[in-house]
Amino acid sequence: MLDCAIIGGGPAGLTAGLYATRGGLQNVTMFEMGMPGGQITQSSEIENYPGFFEHDKTGMDFMDTWQKQCFHFGLKHEMKKVERVAKKGEYFTIYLEGGEEVEAKTAIVCTGSTPKRAGFKGEDEFFGKGVSTCATCDGFFYKNKPVTVLGGGDTALEEAFYLSNICSDVYVVHRRDEFRAAPPTLDRVMRKKNIHLITNSVIEEAVGDAMGLTGVKIKNNDGTITHMENTGLFVFVGHNVNNNVLKDEKGEFICKMNDWGQVIVDLSMKTSVSGLFAAGDMRIEAPKQVVSAAGDGSIAALQVISYIQEQQ
Ligand code: FAD
Ligand code: NAP
Repeated sequence: MLDCAIIGGGPAGLTAGLYATRGGLQNVTMFEMGMPGGQITQSSEIENYPGFFEHDKTGMDFMDTWQKQCFHFGLKHEMKKVERVAKKGEYFTIYLEGGEEVEAKTAIVCTGSTPKRAGFKGEDEFFGKGVSTCATCDGFFYKNKPVTVLGGGDTALEEAFYLSNICSDVYVVHRRDEFRAAPPTLDRVMRKKNIHLITNSVIEEAVGDAMGLTGVKIKNNDGTITHMENTGLFVFVGHNVNNNVLKDEKGEFICKMNDWGQVIVDLSMKTSVSGLFAAGDMRIEAPKQVVSAAGDGSIAALQVISYIQEQQ
């Protein structure tokens, strides 16, 4: 019987493991289907994690020291995919790919979320080299420079607004002439002088060279193609929350979720199921940053320690 099963080994899961083991729990396993580190390992650089100020280091380098520290106090890692988590009586059963089952007193789910790709030419090639899905992470690299934003939802327009305070101009490309975003958000964006709305248009291609993105081709519904040079490209066309592990055999969620599939937690990262916690990008109102995911992981682990003490 595990004291705690941690599902997902990104910043939230690793930090939860560090705090749980260093806080005295003996039997803690983190189930991570790949190498630990999470999404940030795809990044070529990280500038906004306090205490880490080395410009020549990638996200992979950054997470390397995390692993050494987080495993130092006894956290175990099993490189296995979790199919689902179920509460049976007092305890949890963790169903692993291949049919194996593990019992745990508590579970912290930190499986993250994945930004959707729009599917234009060059998107994958230049992802992380000029094409981004995170304004907070990468906006600063375009200080006083123009950027292009793709999407017409709340995220695209809120992030366009955020970018407009850093960048010289923000060109919002949207495939229709009506916006999905809430009217007050659209109104706020329309009043900002350096945000320019380009409607009935899509990104035809992200263009670049070995150094990364150099520009974008924007195609209007009438067939006209505009080539925008020297711009960063931010894609906000929705997110997939990695929440399948929280579904039962019938496909129903075992804890309360919001309409967008994010886990509803309180400030202690408690879900609606006693002993089940969620942390990081998959929870409601997540800022989707390494520093906040790590913070969530630490909170969840401290709560797990208290929960186990209360049960004894
Ligand atoms: P993730 O990092 O998504 O980790 C979830 C883990 O769960 C993954 O490793 C996944 O393999 C695992 N998993 C999923 N499902 C299962 C399953 N069923 N079984 C077992 N394992 C599973 N943030 C910043 O603060 N600054 C930046 O500069 C920055 N740059 C970024 C650049 C890029 C290219 C990307 C993609 C993200 C960037 N971010 C940045 C965002 C940051 O990476 C995320 O906010 C953070 O990683 C979220 O941590 P997490 O632990 O919640 O989830
Ligand atoms: P979203 O509402 O699904 O919007 C995605 C946008 O991307 C839409 O405008 C869509 O166009 C466009 N799009 C999708 N696929 C595309 C493609 N392949 N190429 C070009 N454009 C594409 O996603 P979101 O903005 O991330 O929001 C998700 C949910 O969170 C929403 O319900 C939103 O209201 C909510 N949210 C709320 C807040 C808030 O309340 N403050 C903030 C952020 C998000 P179409 O419009 O034509 O479909």
